[in-house]
Amino acid sequence: MKTFGKLLLVFVMFFSFAEAAKKYRIKLAMTWPSNFPVFGDAVENFKKYAEEMSDGRLNIRIDSANKHKSAFGVFDMVKSGQYDMGHSASYYWKGKVPNTLYFTTMPFGMTAEEQQAWFYYGDGMELMDKVYSEHNLYSFPGGNTGNQMGGWFQKEINSVDDLQGLKMRIPGFAGEVISKLGVNVTNIAPGELYTALDRGTIDALEWVGPSLDLRMGFHKVAPYYYTGWHEPATELQFLINRKFMDKLPADLQAILKNAMKLAAYDMHTQSNHDSGINWESMKKEFPNIQVKTFPAEVMNAIKKANDELLVEKAKEDPLAAQILKSQADYLNQIRPWTIMSDYSYIKSLGQ
Ligand code: CA
Repeated sequence: MKTFGKLLLVFVMFFSFAEAAKKYRIKLAMTWPSNFPVFGDAVENFKKYAEEMSDGRLNIRIDSANKHKSAFGVFDMVKSGQYDMGHSASYYWKGKVPNTLYFTTMPFGMTAEEQQAWFYYGDGMELMDKVYSEHNLYSFPGGNTGNQMGGWFQKEINSVDDLQGLKMRIPGFAGEVISKLGVNVTNIAPGELYTALDRGTIDALEWVGPSLDLRMGFHKVAPYYYTGWHEPATELQFLINRKFMDKLPADLQAILKNAMKLAAYDMHTQSNHDSGINWESMKKEFPNIQVKTFPAEVMNAIKKANDELLVEKAKEDPLAAQILKSQADYLNQIRPWTIMSDYSYIKSLGQ
């Protein structure tokens, strides 16, 4: 028995040591092209944190859209296990799984801070998991851009009639809203946006805001830069193949979760930083850009179409109704505090 006990101990120690030394290679596909600022930086930060925290037990290979050639195939590639992880945006999958739409941002909805509170302290994470677990996926917040600009237009929008037949790249719920007002809505991969606008495939597009838009060169072909209504809190997304994640040792799962959370936090901070710098320089370097706000008539029509669509979506699907109710209740509860805190503070300074 004594010998057997010793042997068992050696056996257990050997396997503990082997497990602790085992290295895991993670393949991650992102929607973004190579060397893409802010969004790509979030993925690079995640890789760095996960590899450092795991002392090299995790090794992450990032493939950009230039490599895998399927910017909008990330959902399927991670679901099937072709890739272990992805970085993208949940609303890109609405054509496959309609309820994924609600976990990026909603027009007239929560701000980034409000939505982050909903995700982590409200029902957001639980509801998102309800949608993604059926597809062998985990989804985690992947970095927030903050409030986005309404987009670049070649012509001024002075009335609802000006929206008729306008060809615009605008994804998510906002795209469905303005298609009700006669806009021909399309989604185009980030790497192809400039060419599409330049060649007239589209007349207008929204992308992000000053943190990224100026580097894309849109102002050269569309001088009207409208303020936003459609994406007040765009949260990107990390996807993980569920079977892959569940097989990892618990400590590595925890490291991945923390690395994603930290990378998402960093991206929100970086977006804000870059937006501040670029907004300031935009006026000096590109004086021809005309910043505009949609007239009240247009905004009222958009809001009306938005509210009608919310009712339609809730009627179509019980889970959509549950998600939308959770978001609306959360917004109603938290917004008075947002108004009392940041909004009142800035207003009290006369700004
Ligand atoms: Ca956008």
